[in-house]
Parts: sequence; C-alpha cells; structure tokens
Amino acid sequence: MRIVLLGPPGSGKGTYASRLTVKLGVPQISTGDMVREEIKARTELGKKIGEYSARGELVPDETIIEMLKKRLEAPDCKKGFILDGFPRTIPQAEALEKIVPIGLVINLNVPDEVIILRLSNRLVCRRCGAIYNRLTLKPKIDNVCDKCGGELYTREDDQPKVIQDRLNVYRRQTEPLIAYYKKKRLLKDVYCKDPKVPPEVVIEDIMAILKETKLI
Ligand code: ADP
Repeated sequence: MRIVLLGPPGSGKGTYASRLTVKLGVPQISTGDMVREEIKARTELGKKIGEYSARGELVPDETIIEMLKKRLEAPDCKKGFILDGFPRTIPQAEALEKIVPIGLVINLNVPDEVIILRLSNRLVCRRCGAIYNRLTLKPKIDNVCDKCGGELYTREDDQPKVIQDRLNVYRRQTEPLIAYYKKKRLLKDVYCKDPKVPPEVVIEDIMAILKETKLI
C-alpha cells in the first residue's frame, strides 16, 4: 500500500494521514514534519532549509528528494506508506517513481476560503506535532495538547501574509501534478467544501476509495 495525499496547504493532508496511518498500519511520511524537525534540531541542513519554509517557499527538489529517499529506505516502509506533502513538483514525482512505484493518489479538493479559514486557526503541538484548530478541532484545555500535554503554537508559515504565498506556490508548482497523475490513471478525487465537516467523514470517503481500488 503506497499512497500519496495531494492537495493545497491546509487541505487536511496531515490530519488525514495521521488518522489513516493508525487504520492502515503503514507509516505516515510527512516531508513538512521532516523539514520542521531539521529546523528544530538546528542541523546544518535545518539552517539551509529554514529560510525557504518560513517564506512559504518550497525547499529545493534535490534536498527534499534526498531526505525522502533516505526515509523510504527505513525498514518500516517495506509494507507501504502514506506520503503527506510529497511530491510537490513534477521533478519530485519523477524522482519518486524511480525510488518506488505508487499505487494511488488521493487528491483533496478544498476551496480557498476554507483553506484560509483553517490555516489561520491552526494550532500544532510543539512536542508531538498533533494538529488542532481553534474553530473545528479545539483542544480540551486552551493551548494544551490533548495527547501529550505539550504546548500548542501557530506555525510560522501559518501567519496570514505567508498563507497566500503558499497557495500561490501550490497553484504554480504542485497543481500540475493533478494532470500528471490523472494521465497515469492513479488519481482519485475527494471533496471537502464545508469547513464544519469533521475529519472522520473525509476519512470514510478515502477508506471507500481504498476498498474500491482493492488496496484494502
Ligand atoms: P503545508 O501545510 O503547506 O502542506 P507542510 O507542513 O507540508 O506544509 O510543509 C511545510 C514546508 O516544508 C513547506 O512550505 C516547504 O517549505 C517544506 N516542504 C515540505 N514538503 C516539501 C516538498 N515535498 N518539497 C519542497 N518543500 C517541502
């Protein structure tokens, strides 16, 4: 089971991937989380890529492909994985194909208004990375993670002025992947137009597609 979750920033890739990983027993591989971990650990690589991420720009292809390739070599990826945030450009998709073939691409369709509303209200746990939302997915105690008690914060790239830049980057660099995967007959669309729809409903839609395509 090798699945890609495709969609604009704030379309729910991370939220759905973190739930699907539990249901399907394969790891969630989030290049965004990998990037944030490098930055937090202040490694040489982290310093290099931190500037791109803070500006809402993509990390250069060679760098992110190298990071992903290493991660996919880990033993837990043998039985499959859910990719969240990769590929984000055509060269990344081509590189991925050379590493391992993909079975299905789920394309998350979410209107811009919903994305902006979600991202500007998103909170992330500093300790475990769990995702919350001030409007739709509130923590039980303000600014405290339900799962680990860690402190919740607003990502640097979720500041309003950066959100629009990220959407532009998505349109320009990532959206061409929709046609790319459609042509390969790997793409399935999922729709979420209403910001109040809980993640479980979308998860059910994704699970139905996995059954339809005989992946489960
Ligand atoms: P989003 O919420 O925008 O989907 P992510 O958490 O997936 O954001 O990623 C955060 C940042 O990490 C991106 O804005 C980008 O700078 C970097 N990044 C993550 N994945 C990739 C990738 N596949 N290619 C290039 N840069 C990436």
